Amino acid sequence: MDELATPLEDIRARIAAAAQLTRRAPDAVTLVAISKTHPAEAIMPLLAQGQRVFGENRVQEAQEKWPALREAHSGVTLHLVGQLQSNKAEDAVRLFDCIHSLDRPSLVGALAKAMDRAGRRVPCFIQVNIGEEAQKGGCAIPEVPALLAEARGADVPVMGLMCVPPAKVEAAPYFALLGKIADDHGLAALSMGMSEDFETAIMLGATHVRVGSALFGAREAA
Ligand SMILES: *Cc1c(COP(=O)(O)O)cnc(C)c1O
Repeated sequence: MDELATPLEDIRARIAAAAQLTRRAPDAVTLVAISKTHPAEAIMPLLAQGQRVFGENRVQEAQEKWPALREAHSGVTLHLVGQLQSNKAEDAVRLFDCIHSLDRPSLVGALAKAMDRAGRRVPCFIQVNIGEEAQKGGCAIPEVPALLAEARGADVPVMGLMCVPPAKVEAAPYFALLGKIADDHGLAALSMGMSEDFETAIMLGATHVRVGSALFGAREAA
Protein backbone atom coordinates (compact mmCIF):
# COMPACT_ATOMS: atom_id res chain seq x y z
CA MET A 1 0.00 0.00 0.00
CA ASP A 2 1.28 3.45 -0.92
CA GLU A 3 2.28 5.03 2.38
CA LEU A 4 0.81 8.35 1.27
CA ALA A 5 -2.62 6.85 0.63
CA THR A 6 -5.42 8.60 2.49
CA PRO A 7 -7.90 6.52 4.49
CA LEU A 8 -10.42 7.06 1.70
CA GLU A 9 -8.00 5.80 -0.96
CA ASP A 10 -7.18 2.83 1.23
CA ILE A 11 -10.85 1.90 1.73
CA ARG A 12 -11.59 2.34 -1.98
CA ALA A 13 -8.72 0.02 -2.87
CA ARG A 14 -9.89 -2.59 -0.36
CA ILE A 15 -13.44 -2.39 -1.71
CA ALA A 16 -12.17 -2.89 -5.24
CA ALA A 17 -10.01 -5.84 -4.20
CA ALA A 18 -12.85 -7.57 -2.34
CA ALA A 19 -15.19 -7.01 -5.28
CA GLN A 20 -12.66 -8.36 -7.73
CA LEU A 21 -12.11 -11.54 -5.71
CA THR A 22 -15.73 -12.43 -6.30
CA ARG A 23 -15.79 -11.18 -9.90
CA ARG A 24 -17.90 -8.15 -9.14
CA ALA A 25 -17.29 -4.71 -10.59
CA PRO A 26 -15.90 -2.27 -8.00
CA ASP A 27 -18.69 0.16 -8.86
CA ALA A 28 -21.27 -2.47 -7.88
CA VAL A 29 -20.48 -1.46 -4.30
CA THR A 30 -21.43 1.96 -2.93
CA LEU A 31 -19.28 3.30 -0.11
CA VAL A 32 -21.47 5.13 2.38
CA ALA A 33 -19.11 7.23 4.53
CA ILE A 34 -20.66 7.32 8.01
CA SER A 35 -19.89 10.78 9.33
CA LYS A 36 -21.98 10.69 12.51
CA THR A 37 -20.44 12.61 15.44
CA HIS A 38 -17.78 14.14 13.15
CA PRO A 39 -17.83 17.88 12.46
CA ALA A 40 -17.83 19.52 9.05
CA GLU A 41 -14.06 20.05 9.22
CA ALA A 42 -13.55 16.28 9.34
CA ILE A 43 -15.95 15.73 6.43
CA MET A 44 -14.52 18.34 4.08
CA PRO A 45 -11.33 16.41 3.22
CA LEU A 46 -13.44 13.51 2.00
CA LEU A 47 -15.59 15.82 -0.08
CA ALA A 48 -12.40 17.30 -1.53
CA GLN A 49 -11.33 13.79 -2.56
CA GLY A 50 -14.58 13.25 -4.40
CA GLN A 51 -16.58 11.21 -1.89
CA ARG A 52 -20.24 12.10 -2.32
CA VAL A 53 -22.24 9.45 -0.43
CA PHE A 54 -22.49 9.98 3.32
CA GLY A 55 -24.48 8.49 6.18
CA GLU A 56 -25.74 9.91 9.46
CA ASN A 57 -27.65 8.23 12.27
CA ARG A 58 -29.51 11.21 13.72
CA VAL A 59 -31.93 13.44 11.85
CA GLN A 60 -31.18 16.49 13.94
CA GLU A 61 -27.41 16.18 13.71
CA ALA A 62 -27.68 15.83 9.93
CA GLN A 63 -29.94 18.89 9.74
CA GLU A 64 -27.33 20.89 11.58
CA LYS A 65 -24.32 19.74 9.55
CA TRP A 66 -25.37 19.04 5.99
CA PRO A 67 -27.23 21.99 4.48
CA ALA A 68 -24.06 24.13 4.49
CA LEU A 69 -21.85 21.29 3.23
CA ARG A 70 -24.32 20.59 0.43
CA GLU A 71 -24.41 24.26 -0.47
CA ALA A 72 -20.66 24.08 -1.07
CA HIS A 73 -20.47 20.65 -2.78
CA SER A 74 -22.80 19.45 -5.49
CA GLY A 75 -23.98 15.89 -5.92
CA VAL A 76 -24.00 14.83 -2.27
CA THR A 77 -26.39 12.04 -1.35
CA LEU A 78 -27.23 11.50 2.28
CA HIS A 79 -28.23 8.17 3.83
CA LEU A 80 -29.97 7.70 7.18
CA VAL A 81 -28.58 4.66 9.01
CA GLY A 82 -30.06 5.18 12.47
CA GLN A 83 -33.36 4.38 14.05
CA LEU A 84 -36.11 6.70 12.84
CA GLN A 85 -38.97 7.89 15.03
CA SER A 86 -42.24 8.30 13.18
CA ASN A 87 -42.52 11.94 14.23
CA LYS A 88 -39.22 12.63 12.45
CA ALA A 89 -40.31 10.97 9.19
CA GLU A 90 -41.10 14.25 7.46
CA ASP A 91 -37.75 15.81 8.30
CA ALA A 92 -36.00 12.61 7.23
CA VAL A 93 -37.78 12.48 3.87
CA ARG A 94 -36.82 16.07 3.13
CA LEU A 95 -33.17 15.65 4.07
CA PHE A 96 -32.18 12.10 3.17
CA ASP A 97 -31.91 10.36 -0.20
CA CYS A 98 -32.02 6.86 1.23
CA ILE A 99 -33.26 5.39 4.51
CA HIS A 100 -31.60 2.21 5.81
CA SER A 101 -33.74 1.73 8.91
CA LEU A 102 -37.29 0.87 7.88
CA ASP A 103 -38.14 -1.60 10.63
CA ARG A 104 -41.85 -1.54 11.47
CA PRO A 105 -45.33 -1.10 9.95
CA SER A 106 -46.05 2.16 11.77
CA LEU A 107 -42.99 3.70 10.14
CA VAL A 108 -44.22 2.63 6.70
CA GLY A 109 -47.35 4.67 7.31
CA ALA A 110 -45.44 7.71 8.53
CA LEU A 111 -42.97 7.55 5.63
CA ALA A 112 -45.72 7.12 3.04
CA LYS A 113 -47.48 10.19 4.34
CA ALA A 114 -44.23 12.17 4.49
CA MET A 115 -43.30 11.14 0.93
CA ASP A 116 -46.73 12.17 -0.34
CA ARG A 117 -46.37 15.52 1.31
CA ALA A 118 -42.82 16.12 0.09
CA GLY A 119 -43.63 14.91 -3.41
CA ARG A 120 -40.65 12.54 -3.50
CA ARG A 121 -40.23 8.81 -2.97
CA VAL A 122 -37.11 8.06 -0.93
CA PRO A 123 -35.71 4.55 -1.44
CA CYS A 124 -35.49 2.48 1.73
CA PHE A 125 -33.83 -0.62 3.09
CA ILE A 126 -35.69 -2.84 5.50
CA GLN A 127 -33.44 -3.24 8.54
CA VAL A 128 -33.48 -6.86 9.70
CA ASN A 129 -32.60 -7.99 13.22
CA ILE A 130 -30.46 -10.69 11.67
CA GLY A 131 -29.03 -12.10 14.92
CA GLU A 132 -32.42 -12.11 16.64
CA GLU A 133 -30.99 -9.98 19.45
CA ALA A 134 -33.48 -8.70 22.00
CA GLN A 135 -31.78 -5.32 22.46
CA LYS A 136 -31.25 -4.61 18.79
CA GLY A 137 -33.36 -2.69 16.30
CA GLY A 138 -34.68 -4.13 13.09
CA CYS A 139 -37.57 -6.19 11.85
CA ALA A 140 -37.71 -9.79 13.11
CA ILE A 141 -36.86 -12.23 10.31
CA PRO A 142 -40.32 -13.88 10.20
CA GLU A 143 -41.93 -10.44 9.88
CA VAL A 144 -39.95 -9.34 6.84
CA PRO A 145 -42.50 -10.56 4.24
CA ALA A 146 -45.39 -8.70 5.88
CA LEU A 147 -43.39 -5.49 6.28
CA LEU A 148 -42.28 -5.67 2.66
CA ALA A 149 -45.87 -6.18 1.51
CA GLU A 150 -46.98 -3.26 3.61
CA ALA A 151 -44.29 -1.00 2.12
CA ARG A 152 -45.11 -2.07 -1.43
CA GLY A 153 -48.79 -1.44 -0.77
CA ALA A 154 -48.04 2.06 0.51
CA ASP A 155 -45.73 2.87 -2.44
CA VAL A 156 -42.71 3.17 -0.13
CA PRO A 157 -39.86 1.96 -2.37
CA VAL A 158 -37.81 -0.86 -0.83
CA MET A 159 -34.53 -1.45 -2.62
CA GLY A 160 -33.15 -4.10 -0.32
CA LEU A 161 -32.27 -5.28 3.18
CA MET A 162 -29.90 -3.90 5.79
CA CYS A 163 -28.39 -5.47 8.90
CA VAL A 164 -26.00 -4.91 11.78
CA PRO A 165 -24.88 -8.40 12.84
CA PRO A 166 -24.12 -9.34 16.45
CA ALA A 167 -20.91 -7.80 17.79
CA LYS A 168 -17.71 -9.79 18.40
CA VAL A 169 -18.64 -12.89 16.45
CA GLU A 170 -17.94 -13.86 12.85
CA ALA A 171 -20.33 -11.82 10.71
CA ALA A 172 -20.21 -13.93 7.54
CA PRO A 173 -23.12 -16.28 8.39
CA TYR A 174 -25.33 -13.28 9.10
CA PHE A 175 -24.37 -11.58 5.86
CA ALA A 176 -25.09 -14.80 3.97
CA LEU A 177 -28.46 -15.12 5.67
CA LEU A 178 -29.41 -11.53 4.82
CA GLY A 179 -28.48 -12.26 1.21
CA LYS A 180 -30.67 -15.33 1.15
CA ILE A 181 -33.68 -13.48 2.59
CA ALA A 182 -33.20 -10.71 0.01
CA ASP A 183 -33.00 -13.29 -2.79
CA ASP A 184 -36.16 -14.98 -1.57
CA HIS A 185 -37.99 -11.67 -1.98
CA GLY A 186 -36.45 -10.49 -5.21
CA LEU A 187 -34.58 -7.63 -3.54
CA ALA A 188 -31.37 -6.57 -5.25
CA ALA A 189 -29.62 -4.35 -2.72
CA LEU A 190 -27.81 -5.33 0.49
CA SER A 191 -26.62 -2.74 3.01
CA MET A 192 -24.12 -4.64 5.16
CA GLY A 193 -20.55 -4.37 6.31
CA MET A 194 -18.90 -1.72 8.51
CA SER A 195 -15.27 -0.80 9.21
CA GLU A 196 -14.39 -4.19 10.69
CA ASP A 197 -16.04 -6.45 8.17
CA PHE A 198 -16.89 -4.66 4.93
CA GLU A 199 -14.65 -6.88 2.80
CA THR A 200 -16.43 -10.01 4.02
CA ALA A 201 -19.76 -8.31 3.36
CA ILE A 202 -18.72 -7.44 -0.21
CA MET A 203 -17.68 -11.02 -0.90
CA LEU A 204 -21.15 -12.06 0.26
CA GLY A 205 -22.94 -9.61 -1.97
CA ALA A 206 -23.09 -6.23 -0.21
CA THR A 207 -24.09 -3.41 -2.55
CA HIS A 208 -23.75 -0.72 0.14
CA VAL A 209 -21.07 -0.75 2.83
CA ARG A 210 -21.34 1.66 5.75
CA VAL A 211 -17.86 2.66 6.86
CA GLY A 212 -17.26 5.16 9.66
CA SER A 213 -14.26 4.79 11.94
CA ALA A 214 -11.94 3.39 9.25
CA LEU A 215 -12.43 6.67 7.35
CA PHE A 216 -12.75 9.22 10.14
CA GLY A 217 -10.93 7.63 13.05
CA ALA A 218 -12.51 6.50 16.29
CA ARG A 219 -15.62 8.21 17.58
CA GLU A 220 -15.71 9.43 21.15
CA ALA A 221 -17.71 7.12 23.37
CA ALA A 222 -21.34 8.24 23.42
C1 LIG B 1 -21.95 3.92 13.12
C2 LIG B 1 -22.56 2.99 12.15
C3 LIG B 1 -21.80 2.43 11.11
C4 LIG B 1 -20.31 2.66 10.94
O1 LIG B 1 -19.61 1.93 11.90
P1 LIG B 1 -18.00 1.85 11.90
O2 LIG B 1 -17.72 0.63 12.69
O3 LIG B 1 -17.50 3.10 12.51
O4 LIG B 1 -17.56 1.70 10.49
C5 LIG B 1 -22.46 1.61 10.21
N1 LIG B 1 -23.77 1.35 10.31
C6 LIG B 1 -24.53 1.87 11.29
C7 LIG B 1 -25.96 1.52 11.35
C8 LIG B 1 -23.95 2.70 12.24
O5 LIG B 1 -24.71 3.20 13.22
